[in-house]
Amino acid sequence: ARALALKEAKAEAKTADGKRIQVFANIGSLSDIEIALKNHAEGVGLFRTEFLYLENDHWPTEEEQYQAYAKVLSSFGERPVVIRTLDIGGDKELPYAKLPKEENPFLGHRAIRFCLANPDLFKTQLRALLRASVHGNLWIMFPMIENCSEIRQAKALLNECREELISEGVQVADKIPVGIMVEIPAAAIAADLLAKEVDFMSIGTNDLTQYTLAADRGNEQVAHLYDAAHPAVLRLVKMTCDAAAKANILVGMCGELAGDPSMTELLIGLGLAELSMSASTIPEVKQQVRSTDTAEAKKLAEQAILLEDGDQVRNLAKKG
Ligand code: PEP
Ligand code: MG
Repeated sequence: ARALALKEAKAEAKTADGKRIQVFANIGSLSDIEIALKNHAEGVGLFRTEFLYLENDHWPTEEEQYQAYAKVLSSFGERPVVIRTLDIGGDKELPYAKLPKEENPFLGHRAIRFCLANPDLFKTQLRALLRASVHGNLWIMFPMIENCSEIRQAKALLNECREELISEGVQVADKIPVGIMVEIPAAAIAADLLAKEVDFMSIGTNDLTQYTLAADRGNEQVAHLYDAAHPAVLRLVKMTCDAAAKANILVGMCGELAGDPSMTELLIGLGLAELSMSASTIPEVKQQVRSTDTAEAKKLAEQAILLEDGDQVRNLAKKG
C-alpha cells in the first residue's frame, strides 16, 4: 500500500476522465525547494523573487540573482519553473532603496510599474534570469500587469537583455515562455487583449480578490469581506480562463485559492489547467484532481458563479 501511495504521489495529476491538471508549488525562498521536491511538485508555478531584495542590504547583483535562479532551475530539471520578476512596492520597506511613502501603496508605484520606471534595476534581474535559463526550464512572469503596453515594454527590455548577452558570448535558452499575472480586475476583464501578447497567464487571487472587493488583504477589519470564493472573483477567473482558451494559451492560478482542496473541482470547472500552491497541500490537491470529472466540474462552476456570496459557493463546492 505504501508503494502504491508513493507511486500516486509522484504521478502526474489527471482527472477521472483523463484531463491533465498540472499541480505546481509556490516558492518564496531557496529553502522552499526541498519541500516542493519532497511533495512531488510537477513544477514551480510561482517563484517569488522578493526575498532576494528584502533579505539584502543592497540591490542584489546580477551574479547574486543568477546563483539563486540557477539553483531553483537546476533543482527542477525539465519541470517548468515560473519565475516572477520583482513585485515590490511602497508597502514593503527596502531600507537601501528609499522608496517614497505612498498614500495607497497597493494602488501605487509597485511591481511592473516600478520595474519599467527603473529599467537598469529591471535589466539586472532580466539578465540574471536569461543567464540562468540554460540550467532548466525557465518561464518568466511579470506581476501586476494592467495593460498591453506594459507587457510590450517588458518584453522589449527582455529582448534587449537577450541581445546584449548574446553579443557578450553568453548562452541563453532559445525558447523561454513569457507570461503575466492576472491579479488586477482590468487584466481579467480585458484578458482577451492581454492574452495576445503572452504564452501563459497565471491568476493571482490574493490581489485579484482585494482589488475586486475593495478589501485590503491584510486588514483584519475587512477580513470578513475578503473572500476569494466570492462569485464576482470567480466570474473574473472564468473570464480569464475563457480568454486563455480562445487564445490557446495556458492558464493557471497561483493565489491561495489554488491550494484549497475543497475548491479543486470548482477551479477545474472554471477552466484552470495548472494550480500552484504551498507545497504541503500538493498531495491532497492531486487526490482531488483524480476524483474530478471535468463535465461535472463545469456544471458546478456554472452554478457557483450564479450564487450570492462566497459562503454559498463553499457550501455548493462541499456537496460537489
Ligand atoms: C497573488 O496576488 O495572488 C499572488 C500570488 O501574488 P502575491 O501573493 O505575491 O501578491
Ligand atoms: Mg499579487
